[in-house]
Amino acid sequence: MATSCGLPGFTDDSKAVPSMQAITAQQIRSSFINATRSEAAKLNLPGNFDSLDWDRLDFLGWRDAKMPLRGYLVVPRSTGLTGIMLRAPEGGAKKGRSVLCELCRAVFSKEDVLLWVARRAGQSGRDGNTVGTLICADFLCSGNVRVEPPVNAINPDPAAVVERQIDGLLARTGQFLERVQGK
Ligand SMILES: [Zn+2]
Repeated sequence: MATSCGLPGFTDDSKAVPSMQAITAQQIRSSFINATRSEAAKLNLPGNFDSLDWDRLDFLGWRDAKMPLRGYLVVPRSTGLTGIMLRAPEGGAKKGRSVLCELCRAVFSKEDVLLWVARRAGQSGRDGNTVGTLICADFLCSGNVRVEPPVNAINPDPAAVVERQIDGLLARTGQFLERVQGK
């Protein structure tokens, strides 16, 4: 679990469950792989940025309060902090929650799920190519995967379930970032 290292946002202690270390506004603005420098400079940080509970976050995701169709995902990875800028559909979510977030897959969540679209990194993105995936409208996935299921015969150890859910969230988030990177 403890994979390195002095990279920003990456926790390398011996806790079973990885989480984020606090990152600065400057680290966030420098992390984007699919935004221009000016887009990254103009983004508005989450309103609760100064009081975030980093121990309970696997990534930082938020909607821009002043540009509501814009969202951001900043993920600590073994290669460094990776940020992507996303765009929400104009009309918001469809009525009724019929789809699952592809990152947290939380079946109980009542939160809207949106098809967020990311410009691809590099030349491909400048040529207009995008990739999309379904993600919770307000990026509350880290909280969703920390909800323990009730103890029963199938899940005798809710904490272990939470660990698996966190691992799954990290793996699927990494896969989405790789699609944005064109890997
Ligand atoms: Zn989610």
